[in-house]
Amino acid sequence: MKALFDERQRKHDPKHFMANGVVLPSPEQPARIDALHEGATKAGCSFLQPADQGRAPLSAVHTTEYLVFLETIHTRWSRIEGASEEVIPNVHPDSRRAGYPRSAVGQAGFHQADTACPIASGTWESAYWAAQSALAGAELLLEGERAAYALCRPPGHHAFSDLAGGFCFLNNAAIAAEHLLSQGLRPAILDVDVHHGNGTQGIFYERGDVLTVSIHADPIRFYPFFWGYAEERGEGAGRGCNLNLPLPRGAGDPEFMKQLEKAKEHIRAFGAQVLVVALGLDAYENDPLKGLAVTTPGFGAIGAAIAKLDVPTLLVQEGGYLSPELGDNLTSFLTGFESA
Ligand code: ZN
Repeated sequence: MKALFDERQRKHDPKHFMANGVVLPSPEQPARIDALHEGATKAGCSFLQPADQGRAPLSAVHTTEYLVFLETIHTRWSRIEGASEEVIPNVHPDSRRAGYPRSAVGQAGFHQADTACPIASGTWESAYWAAQSALAGAELLLEGERAAYALCRPPGHHAFSDLAGGFCFLNNAAIAAEHLLSQGLRPAILDVDVHHGNGTQGIFYERGDVLTVSIHADPIRFYPFFWGYAEERGEGAGRGCNLNLPLPRGAGDPEFMKQLEKAKEHIRAFGAQVLVVALGLDAYENDPLKGLAVTTPGFGAIGAAIAKLDVPTLLVQEGGYLSPELGDNLTSFLTGFESA
């Protein structure tokens, strides 16, 4: 299948990551790109460079205030005497209705949910082109392709309309789904990353025109902790249009496949005309962020099961961290998908 990637997506090179109070190197490294690129190529993907569709499709999902923040904060932060190289928040409001400060430090706290989304000089450009890769993939479906793979890095599914978090800045899958909707299709988003797609859920939570489904490790003891519970079903017009399918920590292929069947039932019942898959590979048994225990052949089975929905499908890369098998897991998923 055709695949999308732009070299500018390498410019974001985060140094810091805090886990259990300890500062560690960020696992969301540009080297992930090489493993994923190779994995996709082995599965027969041919890569194209995305066209620039501009900012309007980003603004359809994210607030203007947030987009301005992402683009300018690093320059403004750098003017603070003695400030760190990367923008990392150290104070947060208690709700989204809090006052909006002019201070760079205050705005960082408002727009960055955690310490896992540091912003440096190349972050905006990389996030922008990751979103363009997803949009170009959506365009391929509109032109009649059965499927496309967008190597989106940095990932996107933890980003809300005005909030970064968990390595994510722009919600690539949501931007693609919104674009497909604007072209008259009825989209569903299926998130198979080991972490709950909290940003995606948040963006569409009160809407009935996009179905959001996420299979993930139970947040009761796993990031993102505050979202991803089965009771979260959507509100208002979105009531019943959000489905969370948490799995106990350490669950493997059979348990994952069971939840996937439930997800597929809902996607069919919703009448989805197009599917966006938030394709995290960090449910892998040896992923450094260990949450579930999906095997390399398991990803092939997941890919094949998703393909059997038989709707045009955009595969948007989310998580999946450096292990020797990262590329193999993508090859397995894509090969399974193509063989179905
Ligand atoms: Zn993840």
